[in-house]
Amino acid sequence: MTYPKHNLAELAEQANERLCDAPAPEIMRWAADTFGARLCVTCNMADAAIVHLAAQVLPGVDVVFLDTGYHFAETIGTRDAVAAVLPVNLINLTPRQTVSEQDAAYGPRLHERDPDRCCALRKIEPLERGLAGYDAWITGLRRDESPTRAATPVVGWDAKRGKVKISPIAGWTEADLDTYIAEHGVLVNPLRFDGYPSIGCAPCTRRVADGEDARAGRWAGLGKTECGLHT
Ligand code: SF4
Repeated sequence: MTYPKHNLAELAEQANERLCDAPAPEIMRWAADTFGARLCVTCNMADAAIVHLAAQVLPGVDVVFLDTGYHFAETIGTRDAVAAVLPVNLINLTPRQTVSEQDAAYGPRLHERDPDRCCALRKIEPLERGLAGYDAWITGLRRDESPTRAATPVVGWDAKRGKVKISPIAGWTEADLDTYIAEHGVLVNPLRFDGYPSIGCAPCTRRVADGEDARAGRWAGLGKTECGLHT
């Protein structure tokens, strides 16, 4: 069923009131029953917990991966393993320009000089293009990841994109995530065991020291904390 946009915003608000304390599988079930094929999952391949959860209730679900051209080899390997072992339809979204073409147009290492522009070109535009055919998207956002994510609702209205945004594990802690991964044998990016609790593009991600915030390694020293996908 396709919903008019004004009904989607209302639907999101009502669902969030009802599901704000529900277990993640119940939220996922509601999403699958409500949107069916008009729903996709986005995943950065730091781990595949959100994909695993979705695949249980909606086998064949579309999983969108933003292939920026700057990922670690381990992230690409995790993406390929997810596509191989889980019953999902992996959609690899690429920017309009290759890294070489972007370098020719804007100069090399745009990520150092203007990371907001780089993220706009390599993440935000491809995501907006990729989401065009859906009414709702699922994310693996958790409130405990950073102060900028502390108010993440389980079901929200993404007014900028005109989509329902569903975050079934918003209320999970990192320990909850680790438990789910261990209990279900979920694929994990090997970098998570090598000092990278949060994983983005290689030029903009560094290891974090013991006691540092999980996202301290993202855009370190650049005064940037989010790529713009979730703000
Ligand atoms: Fe560019 Fe860094 Fe953003 Fe990746 S995270 S798109 S390399 S600025």
